[in-house]
Amino acid sequence: MAQAEGSGPVHYDVVIIGGGAGGLTAAIYAMRAALKTVLVEKLAPGGQILVTDEVENYPGFIHISGAELAMKFAEHAKSYDLEMISKEVTELLPGLEYHTVKLENGEVLTTHAVILATGGTPRKLDIPGEAELHGKGVSYCATCDGFFFRGKTVLVVGGGDSAVEESLYLSKICKTVYLAHRRNELRASRILQQRLAAAENVHMLWNTIVTEIHAGTDGVERVMLKHTETADMRELDVDGVFVFIGFTPNTELVPEETHMSAEGFVITNEKCETNTPGIYAIGDMREKPARQIVLSAADGCVAALSATFYVELKKAR
Ligand code: NAP
Repeated sequence: MAQAEGSGPVHYDVVIIGGGAGGLTAAIYAMRAALKTVLVEKLAPGGQILVTDEVENYPGFIHISGAELAMKFAEHAKSYDLEMISKEVTELLPGLEYHTVKLENGEVLTTHAVILATGGTPRKLDIPGEAELHGKGVSYCATCDGFFFRGKTVLVVGGGDSAVEESLYLSKICKTVYLAHRRNELRASRILQQRLAAAENVHMLWNTIVTEIHAGTDGVERVMLKHTETADMRELDVDGVFVFIGFTPNTELVPEETHMSAEGFVITNEKCETNTPGIYAIGDMREKPARQIVLSAADGCVAALSATFYVELKKAR
């Protein structure tokens, strides 16, 4: 909704920041509870699901592409005439009466409740060559960039579900996939490990870290590898490097006094409430034992129901 010049801030019952699985589910529940709701998302709705190739563990869908699932979430939320703003939120100022949300264009929203659903960003290796070659052979999204490495040789870094899942995806496109993990045991789930063992063109590099990425005339050409136990160094010729070593929660908007875990995730109670009344945190930015689409969606439901109760109490005063 455009803010007319000279007019005051637009007031909402709930402002949802972030349009991934958590934010969109929160929107569905908030709209169904008849709260005046707006969802603010700087990119296309879908969040991390958009850069996930295949999803096989979201109940009701034996197999669905990440892009299609994201679209279904967005369609569902929009079916309630959800108001969406495609802008970046620059500031969240908590208040006693209401909270204030500032957008990149200077627009100001006020609201009783805020649901933070800003997810995370892929963690970087922070090694020489990584930043310089990002987009020129270094990637954090196999679904987005795998196509450019058809019939080529790539290195995947990581040992969790993402690294294994994306290695399997790349194994169908590339000639050879090396998977470098810093330990001798994967963190990824059993079922993914079994599939990996059956992929003939994926070669494990155990106890291995990447120390440098080198460019040729046409992007990435070579990496320098180090064995974590023997400290032996070796070179490996590859055309691309895909990094899946977890992610860092996007907590720039989280108010200063909010309780956070040592790893930088927001600590909430079971209702997804932060220690600031009326501010909720959901999905991948919230401290919890696992990060899954179904859990982000569940958080969205819990936060919206909690916010409904909170907003009704505020309005009744
Ligand atoms: P993750 O589970 O945190 O795994 C990160 C991996 O990267 C770990 O194996 C870790 O090694 C390694 N690592 C971390 N920092 C590193 C560094 N600086 N250098 C080299 N290696 C490094 O992250 P994820 O795989 O992105 O998964 C995130 C969450 O999403 C998890 O909860 C996961 O279960 C979930 N997920 C689920 C699915 C699915 O169910 N289909 C798919 C994707 C993701 P160590 O093992 O030694 O710590």
